Amino acid sequence: MKVFVTGGAGYIGSICVEELLNADHLVTVFDNLSEGHRVAVDERAQFIEGCLSDRETILNAVAADQPEAVMHFAAFAQVGESMTDPSKYFRNNVANGINLLDAAVEAGVKKFVFSSTAATYGMPDTTVPITEQEPQKPINPYGESKLMFETMLKWYRELHGLEFVAFRYFNAAGCSEKLGEERRVETHLIPNVLRVALGQAKQCRIFGTDYPTPDGTCIRDYIHIIDLAQAHILALKPGKCGFYNLGNGEGYSVREVIETCRQVSGKPIPAIEEARRDGDPARLIAGSQKAIDELGWKPRYATLEQIVDSAWRWHSAHPNGYSG
Ligand code: UDP
Repeated sequence: MKVFVTGGAGYIGSICVEELLNADHLVTVFDNLSEGHRVAVDERAQFIEGCLSDRETILNAVAADQPEAVMHFAAFAQVGESMTDPSKYFRNNVANGINLLDAAVEAGVKKFVFSSTAATYGMPDTTVPITEQEPQKPINPYGESKLMFETMLKWYRELHGLEFVAFRYFNAAGCSEKLGEERRVETHLIPNVLRVALGQAKQCRIFGTDYPTPDGTCIRDYIHIIDLAQAHILALKPGKCGFYNLGNGEGYSVREVIETCRQVSGKPIPAIEEARRDGDPARLIAGSQKAIDELGWKPRYATLEQIVDSAWRWHSAHPNGYSG
């Protein structure tokens, strides 16, 4: 299929592009490089540098490309920043996204695949894996902006017939052989812990040790980026439509993640305990049975060791990230 990918130079987008190309799809990447890296865009893809805020540019780009599907990864994704600058999040993740939706409708695109997030659930008070039926009550503008986009997708389907699949990611992690995780500001656990293993920081930080979990630290469900990309490829099949969680159904605490990083890297990785980070739910574990049953999704790298191992291989081969 011909697939138009926004945000295809970013962490998740670039690896989805690589997997799409490996599966013989044709890809055009549209990215403003505000977060992404030009070198992360696979050479087999066409690249357009452009911004979704520029309505004419995106309308013309999609009209000229005539893709069968659009995958929309371009968005801001820092929870903390969204609490201090909500305007930035609603403008880019919602308002600019409307330009892309309209471009998809005008060009007669058959399928729209959207990067949503477990942050749309907010602070779920469940101890069982979260299904797609869990009430969505975001607790920050980032989660709210993604939920607003989900709502727009429902209406665009009903009123314009635009079919969509929206994936609610839990904790995307890991790397491919060639492509990895490098952000201008890194807030995520695994890359920050691996920086210590690389000798680039003295110690990693544990945010909160008094949560109601067995070791007192937050539990998350980590999903390998390649498994996540595979779900996007399955979403392209005709007749697939709706909202899907993506996670492994297994939770690991912050301490367990750090310990796994120690084992995989063979480095001691000192850790210090700090206060809770605002807005972190104690436990987020995905119920992804719907994706397994309806999309035929089969995660291949479901263990934390496999995920951390792939991340360590990329980070140790690229200690300076893409600029190295
Ligand atoms: N975390 C931590 N130290 C860090 C980064 C994150 O203890 O340097 C914790 C964070 O508080 C959360 C978990 O690790 O409980 C996962 O955080 P991350 O930012 O990777 O993903 P999130 O779950 O917020 O999307």
